[in-house]
Amino acid sequence: MNDSMFKKLPNHGGIVPRYDGFSTVNLVSSLLKHYGVRELPSPVLDSSILKTGLFDGVKNVVFVIVDALGYNQLRHYMSSGAMPNMERFVKNAEDGNGLFQPLTTVFPSTTAAALTAIYTGAIPTKHGLSSFSAYIPEIEDVANLVFSYSFSDGKKIENFHPFLQQPSISQFLSDMNITSTSITDKSFKGSLLSAVHHRASVFSGYSFPSTIPTLAVDALRANEQNFISVYWPGLDACAHKYGPFSKETEDEAHAVDATFNRIVQQLKDTKGGMDDTLFVLTADHGQVLNDEDQSLNLNSHPELLSKLRLPPAGERRSLYLYPKKGGEQAVREWAQEKGATVFTREEAQLIGLVGDDKMDANWAKRIGELIVLPPGKSQWVYDPPMAGGSLSFFRGAHGGLHEDEMLVPCLMWRG
Ligand SMILES: [Zn+2]
Repeated sequence: MNDSMFKKLPNHGGIVPRYDGFSTVNLVSSLLKHYGVRELPSPVLDSSILKTGLFDGVKNVVFVIVDALGYNQLRHYMSSGAMPNMERFVKNAEDGNGLFQPLTTVFPSTTAAALTAIYTGAIPTKHGLSSFSAYIPEIEDVANLVFSYSFSDGKKIENFHPFLQQPSISQFLSDMNITSTSITDKSFKGSLLSAVHHRASVFSGYSFPSTIPTLAVDALRANEQNFISVYWPGLDACAHKYGPFSKETEDEAHAVDATFNRIVQQLKDTKGGMDDTLFVLTADHGQVLNDEDQSLNLNSHPELLSKLRLPPAGERRSLYLYPKKGGEQAVREWAQEKGATVFTREEAQLIGLVGDDKMDANWAKRIGELIVLPPGKSQWVYDPPMAGGSLSFFRGAHGGLHEDEMLVPCLMWRG
């Protein structure tokens, strides 16, 4: 890996997102540009990494997103023997038939923000989904943005729409008369995230991820040109439970590998050659193995909570805090004494965490006055008491700037 490509945060070592050509949103914009989309949601991939000719004559794109398959995890699974097919595809790409490259995801490195960035090609300040939970000025409460319940009473918020008006990639493609098919878990149909991610695409839900290859073949047969996205959520859940580098998660990685190989094979068999098809594999983020020693349960820290006007929100690896008026410094010191790295919203923008554009005013209020990164690979969890959740530390977590979370693979090759 070309290390100099990625900027590290001084005195921290975390990876800062590279929205200027080296991140997932740039990958998506490059694909949209290939199909003729003019008003792109982000800059395209930097010309230093995108091989000329890779997209020439491409009619079909098979875009596989494996939740939490970070670049470092992929390398680990290949070297442990859990992903033999992926190893073959990577070698093929590195031998000159494609591209294999780490990219950064967005900040925060979490599904709500990062998967939405992939399905829209836009960074969180543009698509609106700042994190798993955040302050929503319109309802004057902190809310879970994915499951739409408020922190104060735990009740579901009706007509909740935390997104800004950013089109999905399927909408961009539909304008170019390209059909998109979203192959994803059937149970996501109708969810808040799905409604935005898959807007204007054909929803192809699976009951078993092992059946993805058949669904991909069905989608490819349907039209002359196709953009087929495939989403695999299981690796993330497995890594949360067992840790990203555990044997159990290697088992799950092996299942991904076998299915991905079968997608490639089945599509080849269907078409008798795949010259016009581009395979792409990426992820929304990786995961770090939790450091229990430095992890905190914030519900047990009333001395912090009493300094805040709203409950802590954001992510367990990157929290948004809302200090009471005049209490900012005291909150900052509290977190720093416990080893955390703390930024104001303005500092976060200067560092490059949230892009260069002027922030939507309501969006800026969501992420609070202070952004707190817990030390090392630890997590600071907070559960709103009224929401009835149960507190637990995950073995694997994400949301922060560690390279295990921030770097994701970009693997592309022509079938
Ligand atoms: Zn995810």
